[in-house]
Amino acid sequence: MPAVIQLDAITKIYQSGDVEVHAVQAVSLEIQVGEFVAIMGASGSGKSTMMNILGCLDRPTSGRYLLDGTDVSQLGRNELADNRNQKIGFIFQGFNLLSRTSALENVELPMLYARQPLPAKEQHQRALKALETVGLAKRFDHHPNQLSGGQQQRVAIARALVNDPALLLADEPTGNLDSRTSIEIMETFQALNDRGITIVMVTHEPDIARYTKRNVVMRDGVIVTDQPVAERNVAKEELRRLDAEHQAVQLTA
Ligand code: ADP
Ligand code: MG
Repeated sequence: MPAVIQLDAITKIYQSGDVEVHAVQAVSLEIQVGEFVAIMGASGSGKSTMMNILGCLDRPTSGRYLLDGTDVSQLGRNELADNRNQKIGFIFQGFNLLSRTSALENVELPMLYARQPLPAKEQHQRALKALETVGLAKRFDHHPNQLSGGQQQRVAIARALVNDPALLLADEPTGNLDSRTSIEIMETFQALNDRGITIVMVTHEPDIARYTKRNVVMRDGVIVTDQPVAERNVAKEELRRLDAEHQAVQLTA
């Protein structure tokens, strides 16, 4: 099996007036099927630039990017978009759901962009299955404003899953959520990863990064550390612990 991601000496230079900004500098990185990686680093270190390149939203200035075995570094706009739609599911900090649309319809959306769309009935079934995967099948007809932040993010995860992508890319997926809800989202990611789904997530929170299996830290456009997570947080256990604490507080109150 090819690596899901193989970056060879990827560089991104932005032209900002007369100034060249070297946002990513000769970064090489390999991510295999089934990995769960956090990309970390201070503001301005190049995380978003990396995400945009990994997500085929932008092309590197130089270097080679193989996505799931395909060289995407030289592709034109349309071919890049095709690769993006087929191979990558995106999850953003702000959920990016359509507000006047049910959870089910939100999840169906990426299937509408397919070159050969499935019959409507099959689209419904696949969207329902994706909602089931994130524990929200019962709320299929709720609109985003009838769902909590954590539930909305789980709808977004279902939407990212629906085309059966090779890679889930999440940009600060817990950035808008309280700490317990953040752990619930990490529980969903850990369950998906246990099923073999490859996940790459940008976060600046070390606590959240410890739910992944590998931490890549950037500074000034280069990778400064790349290490397996030694003591991994297990979201299920953490949630159980929080529940027990909560009960103890209620008993003593
Ligand atoms: P991070 O996501 O880690 O905060 P970014 O990838 O957004 O970092 O930015 C890396 C560097 O590239 C920063 O110095 C930033 O100012 C610069 N940069 C990002 N996007 C652009 C752009 N479109 N034009 C010019 N400079 C940019
Ligand atoms: Mg950023």
